[in-house]
Amino acid sequence: MDAVCPVCRERDLVVIDLDVAHHALTLISCAACGAKWWRRDGDEVSITEVVSLVEEDARASRGRRRQRA
Ligand SMILES: [Zn+2]
Repeated sequence: MDAVCPVCRERDLVVIDLDVAHHALTLISCAACGAKWWRRDGDEVSITEVVSLVEEDARASRGRRRQRA
C-alpha cells in the first residue's frame, strides 16, 4: 500500500484498524505532521462518512429501540 502522508510525504505513519458496521475502517495518522485521514475498505473517505458509519453501527448494536427525548 502506498502509505505516504499526503501533506508532508512522511512514511512513518500510525495505522489503527477498526471494525465498524462490518466495514474495515482504518485511521491513519502522520507521526511527523499530525495529519489524520480515514480509509474504509481500502478507499479514502471523509470524516463525515466515518461519522455516519459509526452512527449506523451504534444504531445496529442498539437494535430498533428508540428513545423519546
Ligand atoms: Zn505528514
